[in-house]
Amino acid sequence: MSHSAVSQQAATAVSVSVGNERSLRRSVFKHNNSISFNTKSSWSSSLALNQKTTTTIRDARRYTSTTTLCMSVQQASSSKVSVSPIELEDPSDPPLNLYKPKDSYTAKIVSVERVVGPKAPGETCHIVIDHDGNLPYWEGQSYGVIPPGENPKKPGAPHNVRLYSIASTRYGDFFDGKTASLCVRRAVYYDPETGKEDPSKNGVCSNFLCDSKPGDNIQITGPSGKVMLLPENDPNATHIMIATGTGVAPYRGYLRRLFMEDVPNYGFKGLAWLFLGVANTDSLLYDDEFSKYLKDHPDNFRFDKALSREEKNKKGGKMYVQDKIEEYSDEIFKLLDNGAHIYFCGLKGMMPGIQDTLKRVAEERGESWDAKLSQLRKNKQWHVEVY
Ligand code: FAD
Repeated sequence: MSHSAVSQQAATAVSVSVGNERSLRRSVFKHNNSISFNTKSSWSSSLALNQKTTTTIRDARRYTSTTTLCMSVQQASSSKVSVSPIELEDPSDPPLNLYKPKDSYTAKIVSVERVVGPKAPGETCHIVIDHDGNLPYWEGQSYGVIPPGENPKKPGAPHNVRLYSIASTRYGDFFDGKTASLCVRRAVYYDPETGKEDPSKNGVCSNFLCDSKPGDNIQITGPSGKVMLLPENDPNATHIMIATGTGVAPYRGYLRRLFMEDVPNYGFKGLAWLFLGVANTDSLLYDDEFSKYLKDHPDNFRFDKALSREEKNKKGGKMYVQDKIEEYSDEIFKLLDNGAHIYFCGLKGMMPGIQDTLKRVAEERGESWDAKLSQLRKNKQWHVEVY
C-alpha cells in the first residue's frame, strides 16, 4: 500500500477479515496517523502506536488490499483483549535458543513504523515480525537478528548476530501468538570532526531493520535471556521498571500482559511503576498505551518520564532518569525492602549515574548500598539488561 493511499484513507472504517471461525470481526481505522482496532473492549481507541509523524501502514502478511486491513483477534470477554493460543501459557520454563546462528529461522517483516516525532533526535522504529508461531518467546526475552551480507571482519562469513529485546507479549501485537515486535533505534554515525553523517559507518543491523519492507525475509535466532523475565508467582508484586530509550521494549511487553491482555489465570493486582528517560516529548515511546494504563489502572500503574532536553532537575541540570529515581527514592527503597522487583534496560551508560544515585540515597538513609545490592541480587529482585 502506498503512503498516499494510506493517507487518503484517514478516518475511513475498513472491513477486517479474521483468521479463524471463532474470531470476531473488528474494524480498523486510520486516523490522525494512528491505527486503532475498533472492538467492543475498552481498547477500541487505544491500541494505536504512538505515531507522531505520518507513517505508512505496511503489512505484507495479512493486509492485502488498499481498503482492507485484516486482523485475527478474538473478541475480548472483558475490558481486556482475548489472546490465543492459550497453550503458550503451558510450559513451565521459557523457550530458549530454539534457533541458533548456524540454523536461524527465516521470518517475515510485517510492518515497520517510525514511532518518534520529527523533533526526536534520531529515529526509532516499531517492527512487527511474523514467525508464524514457530519462534515462541516470553516477555522480557530477546531475539537475535542476522543482517544480510558479509561480515567485513570475516570475509565469506555472515554478519554476527545482534540482539533485540522483544517489545510484545508472547501473543504478539495481533494477540494470536504469531508475531513478535522489536523497538529499534537506527544507529547513525556522525563524523566527530565534520559533524556530518558518514553512511559507511552506520550500524548494519539497525539500519537493515529500519529500512526493511513488509514481506522481506529476516533471519532470527533465539529467543534468549532469562534475566528480564517477568516473575509471575505473585499477582500482588511490585515491578519497578527503569528504561532509557529503546530499553522500554521489554516493559511494553510486560505492561500489555499486565493490563491489556486477558491472560488465563493471571490477574495482576500489584503495582507496575515505569520510569522512562528520553530526550524530549517527541522521543517518547508507546506513550498512548502507557497513558491508557494510567487512566484505567491508576491504583496499579505509575509512569514517570524524564525528558533530558526539555526538563531540568532540581540542580538546574538535565533531567535524567536517575533524577526521577532520586525524587521518589524513599518510596522506591520502601518498596524494595518489601520485595519489589527492579528492572533496568537501555544503554549501558545509564547504569553508573543510577548506581551513584542509589548509593547516595542509601548512604543518606544510613544504609550500605553494597549490602543492599547484594541482598537484592540474592533475592532475585535486581534485573539488569543494558547494551
Ligand atoms: P553495528 O554495525 O554493530 O555498529 C555499532 C556502532 O558502531 C554503530 O553505532 C555504528 O554507527 C558504529 N560504527 C560502525 N562502524 C564504525 C567505525 N568504522 N568507526 C566508528 N563507529 C563505527 N537495540 C535497539 O535498538 N533496541 C533494542 O531493543 C535492543 N535490545 C538489545 C538487547 C540486548 C540484550 C543487547 C545486547 C543489545 C540490544 N540492542 C538493542 C542493541 C543492538 O543489539 C545493536 O547493538 C544495535 O542495534 C547496533 O547494531 P548495528 O548492527 O546497527 O550497529
